[in-house]
Amino acid sequence: MKLAILSRNSKLYSTQSLVAAARRRGHTVRILDPLRCYMRIEPGSFSIHYKGVPLADVDAVLPRIGASITRYGTAVLRQFELMGVYTPNPSDAVLRARDKLRCHQLLAAQGIDLPLTVFGDNPDDTADLLRLLGEPPHVIKLNEGTQGAGVILAERTSSSKSVVEALRGLYANFIVQEFIAEAEGSDLRCFVVGERVVAAMRRSAPIGEFRSNLHRGGTAEQVALTPEEEATAVRAAAILGLSVAGVDMLRSRRGPLVLEVNASPGLEGIESATAVDVAGAIIEHIVAACPPRPRRSKRK
Ligand code: ADP
Ligand code: GLU
Repeated sequence: MKLAILSRNSKLYSTQSLVAAARRRGHTVRILDPLRCYMRIEPGSFSIHYKGVPLADVDAVLPRIGASITRYGTAVLRQFELMGVYTPNPSDAVLRARDKLRCHQLLAAQGIDLPLTVFGDNPDDTADLLRLLGEPPHVIKLNEGTQGAGVILAERTSSSKSVVEALRGLYANFIVQEFIAEAEGSDLRCFVVGERVVAAMRRSAPIGEFRSNLHRGGTAEQVALTPEEEATAVRAAAILGLSVAGVDMLRSRRGPLVLEVNASPGLEGIESATAVDVAGAIIEHIVAACPPRPRRSKRK
């Protein structure tokens, strides 16, 4: 198989781990900086060019697109799809996952439980909006934040109001949620590949912090999921259309609550906490799911 990995940084642990896993299995792999891919669009004829050379014979593409280049990165990915290249995470699925609000609507519509969530636009509605949510504490999240940046805990309704007003002043998009205190600063990262969870870890926040992201100094350990947690993670990824996904959830009194679904989940934390070859599982899934290459007719 000829695999392309869309990644801005070939030195990242995740990228290197995927490259090594593919090569170990005898596949050809190339890292492409999505911002260096340029495209020619014509009805019935789509091509991608890279440093002066057209890309040909790519069987599968794995997007590892950072949040800051979502728009251009998914356009490149869509171009690969239009050229008939297989991807486990299609451009539309990546876009759905990148928008927290949309993600919450799609998941809740399919019966996936989440922390109760509200959002609104007009400042005149803030007081009633917070009433709909119920008693504080509240968690306020920037719609497009990652790694815990842009997640704020407000202990009182008056603080929620000021944070909401400040964010409105900055024209930021955000959601407000009930705070799940019984999660006690821990969440679950469930790494879904295909139709199963290949590895799972419990992340715990450092003292004085409620966000358990590893980027915020959290610690991680392998965890055994309940069948309900595992099924929830697999369903959440499937609802968004992702075959490779990091599904984050909280353990609550009413069962697992999905926080978000990551379309480019990092491999370093999960591989070191669980000792599972997650990169290998991803490569094997791509090989199994990638349709055989159609016999190409000779080009003129
Ligand atoms: P990000 O995409 O920035 O990681 P998350 O929604 O995953 O944002 O939130 C970051 C962390 O904050 C989570 O891993 C979790 O530990 C904590 N957290 C988020 N939402 C809630 C909530 N509603 N109640 C309790 N803790 C939460
Ligand atoms: N981008 C990382 C991931 O999706 C964030 C992990 C973290 O901060 O815990 O795995």
